[in-house]
Amino acid sequence: MNAGEISKIKTLLNVPKAIVIIPHKNPDGDAIGSTLALYHYLRLSHHNCTIIAPNDYPDFLKWMPGETTILKYDTQQESCDTLINKTDIIFTLDFNALNRIGGMESVVENSNSIKIMIDHHQQPDDYANFTYSDVTMSSTCEMVYNFIEMLGDKDLINKDIATCLYAGIMTDTGSFRFPLTTSATHHIIGELIEKGANNAEIHNQIYDTNSYDRLQLLGRALSNLKVLPEYRTAFITLSQEELNTFNFKKGDTEGFVNYGLSLEGIIFAAIFIENQQENIIKISLRSKGDFSVNELSRAHFNGGGHTNAAGGRSDLSLKDTIDKFISILPEYKQDLNL
Ligand code: 5GP
Ligand code: MN
Repeated sequence: MNAGEISKIKTLLNVPKAIVIIPHKNPDGDAIGSTLALYHYLRLSHHNCTIIAPNDYPDFLKWMPGETTILKYDTQQESCDTLINKTDIIFTLDFNALNRIGGMESVVENSNSIKIMIDHHQQPDDYANFTYSDVTMSSTCEMVYNFIEMLGDKDLINKDIATCLYAGIMTDTGSFRFPLTTSATHHIIGELIEKGANNAEIHNQIYDTNSYDRLQLLGRALSNLKVLPEYRTAFITLSQEELNTFNFKKGDTEGFVNYGLSLEGIIFAAIFIENQQENIIKISLRSKGDFSVNELSRAHFNGGGHTNAAGGRSDLSLKDTIDKFISILPEYKQDLNL
């Protein structure tokens, strides 16, 4: 985002505005953390802000400061439509294509408000008046920190903002271990702790609130793990029946895909999760090094994301989806064997 754009946004935000902030569907820690941090920041400047999430999110995110104010479009559509239609500004955070917000797509697309995108995924669409897109960033939360700093308001970062930003950076970096974690990320984390983010407490809230059922489901997922050594690939499946057996709740499978990637020699991991309600197989893909799961997902599974972490979906059955997955691997054999 260049100085000219920042100065235009500064002018725009000089007087109190009606603002709607939107994360992607099935929001994760970075999506909820970044929208809440921006919400707290804009409220300090007397804007009238509302966060509208396309749908619900896991319980392990339901402690963040301000979280209870978040509206959910899928269950509160009428009041959300009214808000979106009369808002001055829409911020879209942690996604870069309007098809990532499910049922909200057309009302946001048709809104006359000024749209500002802040996002770190690959290949942004061109729907926003202001696009702050940077694929080298660890997280949208790191970008919201930079955005506040560019607006000259670093001093406004308080404990609530710091807590939300810390949580999002932590979850999107796999607790500061993924390659996009830089020294700048660590400097920011240091500042957030100085501003009052309680690191041990945040880790505890997000990672140490497992249910017994979730750990049993993890056990099943690990026993379903398959390895294809010739492609340095590992994958997990979970059927709807298996999810039901362990009383699956939203968020219970978060992070499971990483177990495949933790196997020695494996550079590509996937998880396929049946969702009978939506009649799809939800897919999460992870890789190490240069193998781009963003490209693979765009090419074969209606999805996208980052080079090393992407999502997608399949309308086939679980078995047919796996057959398709295995059948496309030869296409990538050279890249996977590097
Ligand atoms: P996850 O596998 O954890 O759901 O998502 C991994 C990354 O890919 C996240 O950054 C997420 O925002 C993105 N992602 C997940 N599902 C989709 C999808 O269906 N389409 C696109 N474009 N990105 C996705
Ligand atoms: Mn993110």
